[in-house]
Amino acid sequence: MISGRRAHNGGLRPCLCAFRRVLASIVSVVSSQPQAILQEVFGYTAFRGQQQAIVDHVVAGHDALVLMPTGGGKSLCYQVPAIARHRAGLGVTLVVSPLIALMHDQVGALEEVGVHAAFLNSTLTLDDTQRIERELMSGRLVLLYAAPERVTNLRFQAQLASLYERGLLSLFAIDEAHCVSQWGHDFREDYLQLSVLHERFPDVPRLALTATADDQTRADMIERLDLQSARVFISSFDRPNIRYTLVEKDNPRQQLLRFIRDEHDGDAGIVYCQSRRKVEETAEWLSQQGISALPYHAGLDAAVRQRNQNRFLREDGLVMVATVAFGMGIDKPDVRFVAHLDLPKNIEGYYQETGRAGRDGLPADAWLTYGLADVVNQRRMIDESPASDEFKRIQRGKLDALLALAEAHDCRRVRLLDYFGEASQPCGNCDNCLHPPATWDGTEAARKLLSCIYRFWQHGQQRFGAGHLIDVLRGKHTDKVAQYGHQTLSTFGIGADLSDNHWRAVLRQLVALGYVVAEGEFNTLALTDGARAVLKGAVQLTLREPTEAPKRTRGRTPQSGAKAAMLADLTGDALVRFGELKAWRAEVAREHNLPAYLVFNDATLADMARTVPQTLGELAQISGVGAKKLQAYGEAILQVMGR
Ligand code: ADP
Ligand code: ZN
Repeated sequence: MISGRRAHNGGLRPCLCAFRRVLASIVSVVSSQPQAILQEVFGYTAFRGQQQAIVDHVVAGHDALVLMPTGGGKSLCYQVPAIARHRAGLGVTLVVSPLIALMHDQVGALEEVGVHAAFLNSTLTLDDTQRIERELMSGRLVLLYAAPERVTNLRFQAQLASLYERGLLSLFAIDEAHCVSQWGHDFREDYLQLSVLHERFPDVPRLALTATADDQTRADMIERLDLQSARVFISSFDRPNIRYTLVEKDNPRQQLLRFIRDEHDGDAGIVYCQSRRKVEETAEWLSQQGISALPYHAGLDAAVRQRNQNRFLREDGLVMVATVAFGMGIDKPDVRFVAHLDLPKNIEGYYQETGRAGRDGLPADAWLTYGLADVVNQRRMIDESPASDEFKRIQRGKLDALLALAEAHDCRRVRLLDYFGEASQPCGNCDNCLHPPATWDGTEAARKLLSCIYRFWQHGQQRFGAGHLIDVLRGKHTDKVAQYGHQTLSTFGIGADLSDNHWRAVLRQLVALGYVVAEGEFNTLALTDGARAVLKGAVQLTLREPTEAPKRTRGRTPQSGAKAAMLADLTGDALVRFGELKAWRAEVAREHNLPAYLVFNDATLADMARTVPQTLGELAQISGVGAKKLQAYGEAILQVMGR
């Protein structure tokens, strides 16, 4: 059950505190049961996955490192223990979180369910700060959110020390713990200072959480946060409700538009682009096409950025077009799609970005379009970066894994999970499972292409780009062919049987597989050492057929895809009730200055519309309706539903 600290540093203080804690834990033994808290406070019937084991471990006062995918339900892993331990008289939980912008909503969500929480950061007025500090010192506060830089602040340290002396410092939760690792993609200098918490308050249990899990980052977290003795909880990284689709680029804007119109009309989504300019252009273009889209990137004025983020979180059905600067800590649960117009850097990045879709567990799409230029650009960015050779080598390996995913003909999910060390079976919910791509024996074609590059070099010690290469293979008499005398090459016209598009696909796959590199300002092509084996016929190559026209069977009608699945059984009256409940929710959200989903999420509203509860008792049975919300909104909801 709930126990206090594992060890004491001596002195008189612990004796009294320990007594108080034992007394408190006996008194509150029923209401501090995690299961009871989950139901009464959050209105959920059961823990998910490993939540229960983690919560029990932490409530009992042990350290833990939690690796759970985005949307897996990390917050409850520290919120339930925080409540349990506070009820047992153990005081406040300090949550370290890197994103000031989101603390407000997290605290708002807790206050909505009746948990006393607050944040301390630089956006507060002096009055507010002092008020919160008083709450903190009184021991009434259950959770306090703070940015990492605050932890080293001397005044704050003194406050923590005072709480500690009085046995009122219950737990440290370190969110986004991968920020402590230089290998991770979100390294934050301030996170290195967090070891001070353990040094000064050694017997306060700690819980570090992250959605990023490669071995190196994991080892770094354990070392830098002194978590050697913590139990490590690794959840499955599968997000079964997300459908992965990776398509070849063929007029990407139109592809994106069709994807949004056909499958996500009126849905909230994120579109990732690599450059700031492309973000702005794409957002503007989508708006012109009648899709409500906003831009977000680090170059925008901070106020504009904040406003766009707030609108995205608070309004229904907005599309955010953004660089990777957007998204960390965005816990909007009803993002129905994440689209990539450019290739991410690696699978970790891809998985984290796509993981922002469908956190509510309802169907969602991860859609990416990529082409030869993406492959070439990503390779070049690594080559030209000022990083060490060792770092570049690691980055190249990571890019290769991503390219292999993009070119895969088998289940995408099996590959993704395999990358994170998890074995699985074909999922039935990715493009390759749903529409197995045609493959062909591309060995001969690959040899033709590689030998053409080789002949260029042999002929005039020169390299050429993709366009000219394909012209020569197809035997086109262009000016450039005449200029270099390439009509005399033995490879001239040997590929007339395949279309431009087909050759482009072959080349892209050969670059992805590492047989060809594109270099320099003009992306001229050269063979790698590995190409020799293919030229000699020692390697058999099974390639993907290019998709001449995008083939998607889903989404021809407006109400298809993820949204339809959620609303499928909402017909007639139920659909009307759902609309009315949403309108009511929007009003409440505005009044409380909170995103609508924090009042109730879509799934909860849909349940209400479907089951039409007639009494408060029936309403309480619906997942997502806890005691506080029942009390605050129960009557109003019954009225909306025309009781
Ligand atoms: P993470 O931080 O791991 O990305 P969150 O903590 O934001 O995930 O949880 C994602 C969503 O799942 C939230 O809307 C949360 O309320 C919901 N959720 C988490 N655990 C449960 C549970 N046991 N039952 C029902 N919903 C849950
Ligand atoms: Zn699959």
